[in-house]
Amino acid sequence: MKKNKLWVICLAVCLVLVVILCFLFIKRFKFNFNKVEVEVNTKIDSKIVTACYGNYVKCNKATIKSDNIDLKKIGKYKVKLTASYKNKKKTIVKELSVVDTTSPEIKLENEEITICPNQKDVDVKYSATDNYDGDVTDKVSKKIKGDLLELTIKDSSNNKTTKKINMKREDTTSPEINLNGQAEMSISINSTYNEPGYTAVDNCDDVSSKVNVDGSVDTTKPGTYTITYSVTDESGNSASATRKVTVYQQSEKYGTGVIYLTFDDGPSAYTSELLDTLAKYNVKATFFVTGRAPGYNYNITRAYNEGHAIGLHTNTHNYSYVYSSIDAYFEDLNTISNTVKNLTGLESKLVRFPGGSSNTVSRITPGIMTSLSGMLLNQGYQYYDWNVSSGDADGGMKSSDVYVNNVVSSLGSRSYYIVLQHDTNANSVRAVSRIIEYGLSHGYSFDKLSLSSPTVHHRIAN
Ligand code: ZN
Repeated sequence: MKKNKLWVICLAVCLVLVVILCFLFIKRFKFNFNKVEVEVNTKIDSKIVTACYGNYVKCNKATIKSDNIDLKKIGKYKVKLTASYKNKKKTIVKELSVVDTTSPEIKLENEEITICPNQKDVDVKYSATDNYDGDVTDKVSKKIKGDLLELTIKDSSNNKTTKKINMKREDTTSPEINLNGQAEMSISINSTYNEPGYTAVDNCDDVSSKVNVDGSVDTTKPGTYTITYSVTDESGNSASATRKVTVYQQSEKYGTGVIYLTFDDGPSAYTSELLDTLAKYNVKATFFVTGRAPGYNYNITRAYNEGHAIGLHTNTHNYSYVYSSIDAYFEDLNTISNTVKNLTGLESKLVRFPGGSSNTVSRITPGIMTSLSGMLLNQGYQYYDWNVSSGDADGGMKSSDVYVNNVVSSLGSRSYYIVLQHDTNANSVRAVSRIIEYGLSHGYSFDKLSLSSPTVHHRIAN
């Protein structure tokens, strides 16, 4: 019995030893997984799995090939992995997870922005992209924390990115007041002044109801009244605008005549503005043009196309040349006549002499005005002097107020007025709207000159 037992124990020990030796020395493939998760859009490489062929004493590095699984999609995959060493191979099937652990990226246009002191909504420019989800800009959430704006984005695998933008709360921009209607108005005495109003806007605050209007118009007393509009925003930035309202005495000067506005010496840089004003009131005027600023000739074409009369004022406007001889005068007149014809197709017969027909500068050629005035009429031209002068060519530029007053104080009960102005004088051009408003509100009408309209001839002095 005892011998038998010993023999069994001996056999068991031997078996265990054989098994241990087998484990130690039999050669086989061994796979070693560092990770069972593969980052999306990468490859299965040695960071994920390695293999070797050998035993516990020595194991030689084997190469690994995986089957072509699509690693572009998150999920669990059963992957066939084949290890090979020399001519030996072993294939196993392993479950691997394709995962996304990369955070999205937020790109900011500015890391610091200036906003209004009380601003609640902040509009910033940014874009967000994720390696797996693509463009995720519209999934970014915004949160204001004091002076920081936090932008946060989480991708579909819960990877999160946060970016912070510093917000400077400040307002240094002034409000803006815009007057409705004209900034310079004319009304007749004892009429009612209707305040045309204004609009006020500010980049940060609602200032529409905060405008302070200072000044008033006494329509019973002639004069110019100033109304001041001012407004201050919550950060102390302020703005103001003024309107000038002129109350005119009409009394005996109330008329029914026709006013012919005429403009000499143009075209110029101010002619466009003048044409805009005339268009606003639908008033037609007469332009006695020169060839001195051909860069503005497009305004001759525009004036003609908009229904104004185009007259001739000589090409050079050089007194010592145009009045040097009869031939010189007509040579110069023909030049501007051809210019007008080329621009408009019109053969203008309306003429104004430089300095008017009563000028005395022409005495360098005695009697020339007597000759020229007769010759023009004989050749089918008409020349036009004026019976109202704005004074806008009399030494130095004056304010629009002066030109307005010079004109309107000359209006009375005559049947027509030919008004002399120059569209080379900016303040004279800016007087036109008030002259028109005055004329229209006092019973006058406006027209352009033609061969059939009345004319004014001064007394010839040479
Ligand atoms: Zn002139």
